[in-house]
Amino acid sequence: MNESRNLRLADDLIARVRAAARQEQFLEVVSAEEARARFARHLDLSPLAAERVPLAQALSRVLAHDVVAAVDAPPFDRSNVDGFALRAADTLGAGDMSPKTLRLNPEVIACGHAPVLEVAPGTATTIATGGVMPRGADAVVMIEHTELIEDGAPAIELRRVAGPGQFVSYAGSDIARGETLLHRGARIGSREIGMLAACGLDEVEVVRRPVVAVLSTGDELVKPGEPLKPAGVYDSNGAILAAAVMEAGGTPLSLGAVPDDAMALEQAVRDALAQADMVVLSGGTSKGAGDLSHAIVSRLGPPGIVVHGVALKPGKPLCLAAAGDKPIVVLPGFPTSAIFTFHAFVAPVIRARAGLPPEAAETLIARVPVRVASELGRKEFLLVSLVKGEEGTVAFPTGKGSGAVTSFSQADGFIEIDALASALDANTEVQVTLIGSAAHAPDLVIMGSHDVALDVVVGALAERSFSARVLAVGSLGGVAAASRGECDVAPVHLIDPKTGQYNVHLATPGLTLVPGWQRRQGILFRPADQRFEGRSAAEALKSALADSTALMVNRNAGSGTRVLVDKLLAGARPPGYANQPKSHNAVAAAIAQERADWGLAIEPVARLYGLGFIAVAPEHYDFLLVEKRRERPAVQAFLAALRDETVRKRIRALGMQVSENRDQ
Ligand code: AMP
Ligand code: MG
Repeated sequence: MNESRNLRLADDLIARVRAAARQEQFLEVVSAEEARARFARHLDLSPLAAERVPLAQALSRVLAHDVVAAVDAPPFDRSNVDGFALRAADTLGAGDMSPKTLRLNPEVIACGHAPVLEVAPGTATTIATGGVMPRGADAVVMIEHTELIEDGAPAIELRRVAGPGQFVSYAGSDIARGETLLHRGARIGSREIGMLAACGLDEVEVVRRPVVAVLSTGDELVKPGEPLKPAGVYDSNGAILAAAVMEAGGTPLSLGAVPDDAMALEQAVRDALAQADMVVLSGGTSKGAGDLSHAIVSRLGPPGIVVHGVALKPGKPLCLAAAGDKPIVVLPGFPTSAIFTFHAFVAPVIRARAGLPPEAAETLIARVPVRVASELGRKEFLLVSLVKGEEGTVAFPTGKGSGAVTSFSQADGFIEIDALASALDANTEVQVTLIGSAAHAPDLVIMGSHDVALDVVVGALAERSFSARVLAVGSLGGVAAASRGECDVAPVHLIDPKTGQYNVHLATPGLTLVPGWQRRQGILFRPADQRFEGRSAAEALKSALADSTALMVNRNAGSGTRVLVDKLLAGARPPGYANQPKSHNAVAAAIAQERADWGLAIEPVARLYGLGFIAVAPEHYDFLLVEKRRERPAVQAFLAALRDETVRKRIRALGMQVSENRDQ
């Protein structure tokens, strides 16, 4: 009885494994252009109706209509200075030898005072800055250029000639009644608000903002702010997409994350449709296990799914649909893919509905110094960071893959690799489309291996108002970039196999080695693991190699740590050797999550993950300085920061030993 139930459960499980492993194909994969055209055919891309808002709430809204000035500004001819309103003709012939005297009228024109008396020939009226020009007057002289005559009736003496119109602003010279002040589609900033107020308006008609529901899908998603569960991932798409909706001129309706449950998801999408002008989902489109979004979208009424599968990378599983007049988009779940496809397919729709013009793409030409492999048949978009090389701009692929959240924020732009190309050769000139505020070049470019203590130095530079761009390209990448003059400094930690010394061999003419700090490398393990706890490095290694269930986690070839691993293993190949992640953190995470039992990494990382640590060897982390760039202020500030005792203290606090030789 029990046995047959177990068999049934096993059959169920196998059926589920089969279903998950089977990849349904996309109905039809189309080009990006075709996808955009098909989507547009089913959408209304005109601006939404206007709504009236108080001026105080008009900031960054889009004007629905042209604004025509109903009044003049200034509303009257006014004085620009403190002085006297007079007839210019009365000053003719005035000079040091022939001063002119004008009688003062019994009136003082302050701001807000409507003048009563006419300025008759031979007279002047006292007037303040901003005062209304009185009848008869056509010019103003500054008080500093006059002499008051105290005895008898008040009068002034002038010693210079005033031309007609001197120090007068005429009515309507700023804003003329009937003039089109602002055009529809303009985004309202503080200056526009000032202009509207100057015309006496206290409210304005703006385009209603499209309400865009943002919904994440996935059983694994955890709301930021809550503790991460095992196999959980924070819902970052929800946050970034809501912000991107705002940037595109929409109002996000953040609906959080829904698990991969058909009923719950369908209900959530229907609710979203009822409340919003547009629905943006992320995740659940790639037709793998638990991917439901596209199936649900196809049930929401005509026209339904318009495109599912676009020949671009990242972003192939993109799904574009509509229910009635409301667009529904299912973005791929991986953050970089989600943001990329959002900007390419969703932001333009939001902008159009919000009354904003399409965003003008800014481009520049740059050289890609490395070869980039690309998939045939898909147009590939590659995020790049820009640095100034000796001969023009250089674009480095940020290359973290479509699952990365940071690729986008660290990128200055992207390049396109044609669908028909299988690679981009090294040193190809490409067109880079800039994203965000890419135009600002950093003061200091650091390319090479990353280290937690480097953040301390960069932080110290920021306190001195120098911006630094750190591109983690690995030690070898840093050496290459430094010798090509593409960076200012390259942090490196490479051992010379011949001498066993770190970094010294990397200094060449034009590249000076600046001492940084030492970090301890050693064996990481979970605390209380008897194979390692309390043992020396040699004993720990011996017991790990003696136990065939002890699974190691290795490092990528080319990393300094890998050199050490291979030296320690002396030809041994324990289980797990082929698992070769690219960072200290990945090694520590694998051990902490019991996907591996031991590996080599640096001490601060062991501490961060609460792991045991057995020191093996110190590693020198130093900087290759590009001599040609030494005199640049940011480079000098960098060197000063390395010498700074406060900075050194902070680096020591991270568990580093700061090198003493500081006479650079
Ligand atoms: P999916 O498209 O649902 O197959 O998801 C692909 C990958 O993207 C998975 O690794 C997901 O964990 C990840 N992912 C999906 N949605 C989100 C989200 N809202 N935030 C962060 N990562 C996500
Ligand atoms: Mg999912």
